[in-house]
Amino acid sequence: MVDFDRKYDVLVIGGGNAALCAAIGARRAGASVLVLEGAPKFYRGGNTRHTRNMRCAHDAATDILTGPYPEEEFWEDLLRVTGGQTDEELARLMIRESKEILNWIVEQGVRWQPSLGGTLSLGRTNSFFLGGGRAMLNALYVTAEALGVDILYDAEVNKLDIADGMFLSASLKHNGEHLTARAATLVAAAGGFEANIEWLREYWGEAANNFLIRGTPYNRGSILKMLLDKGVEAVGDPTQCHAVAIDARAPKFDGGIITRLDCVVFGIVVNKNAQRFYDEGEDIWPKRYAIWGRLVAGQPDQIAYIIFDKSVLTSFMPSLFPPIQADTISELAGKLELDPVTLQKTVAEFNTAVRPGTFDHTILDDCRTDGITPPKSHWARRIETPPYFAYPVRPGITFTYLGTRVNKQARMLMQGGKPSANMFAAGEIMAGNVLGKGYAAGIGMTIGSVFGRIAGREAAKHARN
Ligand SMILES: Cc1cc2nc3c(=O)[nH]c(=O)nc-3n(C[C@H](O)[C@H](O)[C@H](O)COP(=O)(O)OP(=O)(O)OC[C@H]3O[C@@H](n4cnc5c(N)ncnc54)[C@H](O)[C@@H]3O)c2cc1C
Repeated sequence: MVDFDRKYDVLVIGGGNAALCAAIGARRAGASVLVLEGAPKFYRGGNTRHTRNMRCAHDAATDILTGPYPEEEFWEDLLRVTGGQTDEELARLMIRESKEILNWIVEQGVRWQPSLGGTLSLGRTNSFFLGGGRAMLNALYVTAEALGVDILYDAEVNKLDIADGMFLSASLKHNGEHLTARAATLVAAAGGFEANIEWLREYWGEAANNFLIRGTPYNRGSILKMLLDKGVEAVGDPTQCHAVAIDARAPKFDGGIITRLDCVVFGIVVNKNAQRFYDEGEDIWPKRYAIWGRLVAGQPDQIAYIIFDKSVLTSFMPSLFPPIQADTISELAGKLELDPVTLQKTVAEFNTAVRPGTFDHTILDDCRTDGITPPKSHWARRIETPPYFAYPVRPGITFTYLGTRVNKQARMLMQGGKPSANMFAAGEIMAGNVLGKGYAAGIGMTIGSVFGRIAGREAAKHARN
């Protein structure tokens, strides 16, 4: 039972990975902790429910990781995908602490399994959660409850009382009752604003209406907005986000991982004018899958089509919906409502440009095109074996990068740079500190676990001093 007459040491807002790591961290450091999760119990855990893996540095192979992934290599990967738009001090801290997380998270009841295969190529760098994100979360909830963390579901915080950068209390409505939670410190772990289409529209215009939201409908950015309105310094470009190409037939929210399509490297991608618009073979898939959402967002009506043939049908992980199938390119165009003549021409030009090579999707192979724009730099093979297939794709927004600026203690910084007296942040809500743009698979969970643990520890320390 949650006692609203009591003043807790630490209030955690959110119910995903970052929130649970913070709650457990704080409780283990001796603090009394209340977690307020906006979603009902069945939907607890936000986007974390959908995850599969986490990227952690390690110096040697483990039971499930095939080889070392040194800190410096992780840093270089992050540098490359963000184009240098990252806070080096925080990023290096995250990478260093990720080494401990590999074991710490197991101590909290989470279990690992080896990497899935297909085009993922993550066997050395990323540990997969046995049973997926939900199983991972369930383990964290069991641990948090056993430690004595109080948890309330259906508890969406709708107001924060903050004076001069100091958190005082949070208001919420629960079962029709207006309640106030008081605590000595706050950990905000309430995700980004990806499920708030109206807010997305402020930056993307009408295009945002065609976005699909891959995860929870509960991450509407309400806590982020309140914090920024109360003078917390913002970090990150509001248009930057993790966005992948997902099946256009996916539901508006919460379609999860099974609507993601990992077959771009096996074919070509055309827009509604039946034209190619980007190099489908630019880099290996884990380093490029997260650019395709933005690329499709930039196309007319925010729609595109991945086109491939029978020869690669079983080369990638199957998704929820079957591909659209036809015996000829012209018939396929008809089914996709594309101009048949243009699609035939696009495929024919592509086929002509393909140079001979030895195909290997796990490396940057020598199968490339010559003489067309955009090129396909690797894995280019002719599309000529019927039947032909297509997946319609739309931008699938995973999470946004606009967030609250934090320091190495995960303490929020106020405008002007002064640290908040007692407010901390972890996870998506502060991901923009590390991710200015771009993404490498598994970093979302690293950010949540590392900064969640730090935020919980630091909040407990502050509350108990
Ligand atoms: C389909 C999909 C697959 C993904 N796969 C991976 C993966 O394999 N590896 C990886 O690293 N990342 C992955 N991600 C990204 C990853 O999910 C996030 O980076 C991570 O879960 C963020 O954790 P978090 O705790 O910050 O946010 P979340 O887990 O989203 O939790 C936010 C919580 O805040 C709650 N909340 C929001 N507003 C309020 C409010 N006002 N009051 C109270 N509670 C509130 C929500 O209900 C939710 O519980 C994936 C995302 C999606 C959508």
